[in-house]
Amino acid sequence: MSRHEVTAYVALGANLGDAAQALRNALNALGKTPGICLVRASSLYRTAPVQSTGPDYVNAVAEVSTTLTAPALLDALQAIEQQAGRERPYRNAPRTLDLDLLLFGGASIDSLRLTVPHPRMEQRAFVLVPLAEIAPLLVPAGLLARVADQAIQKI
Ligand code: ATP
Ligand code: CA
Ligand code: CA
Repeated sequence: MSRHEVTAYVALGANLGDAAQALRNALNALGKTPGICLVRASSLYRTAPVQSTGPDYVNAVAEVSTTLTAPALLDALQAIEQQAGRERPYRNAPRTLDLDLLLFGGASIDSLRLTVPHPRMEQRAFVLVPLAEIAPLLVPAGLLARVADQAIQKI
C-alpha cells in the first residue's frame, strides 16, 4: 500500500546564468522525481536580491503532492540543486538554483537540517507573492502588506 499524499510548497530561486531556464528545468525535474507530483507552479517573477548581491533573481513557487517524507523531499530538492551546479561558497551567495521547502502539509519540523514552515518565508515578497498566486488562502493579506515595499515583477 502506498503512503498517503501530502501537499507541499517549494520555493524556487536563481540568479546566475539563465535563471528562468534553470527554474523551468527544476520544475521539470521535480515532476519527474519518483514520489513527487507537480500540481501547479506560479508564474516566474523577477526580484531584486534581499540580503544578497549579484544579478536580479528569478523566483517562483510550486505546489507538489508527495508520498515522500519531508527529509526525503529535501534530499530530492538538494539533488536537483546539485544537478544545476549549485555551490555554497558563502551565505546568501548568488546561486544557479535554490529550492526551499516552505510548507509540508500542516507539519511543524525543527531538526538540524530542516525547519518547516520555512522560518523566513513570511518576510519575503519573493516567496509570498508567488505563493499567493497559486494558494491565496495560505497568504493572509496582512502578510502581503508587510512586504509591499520589496520590488517584485511578474515576468
Ligand atoms: P534561506 O534558508 O535563508 O533561504 P539559503 O536557501 O540560501 O537561505 P542554503 O544554503 O540553500 O540556504 O541552505 C542551508 C541549509 O538550510 C540546508 O543545508 C538545509 O539543510 C537547511 N534547511 C533548513 N530548513 C530548510 C527548508 N525548509 N528548506 C530548505 N533547506 C532547509
Ligand atoms: Ca533560500
Ligand atoms: Ca536553500
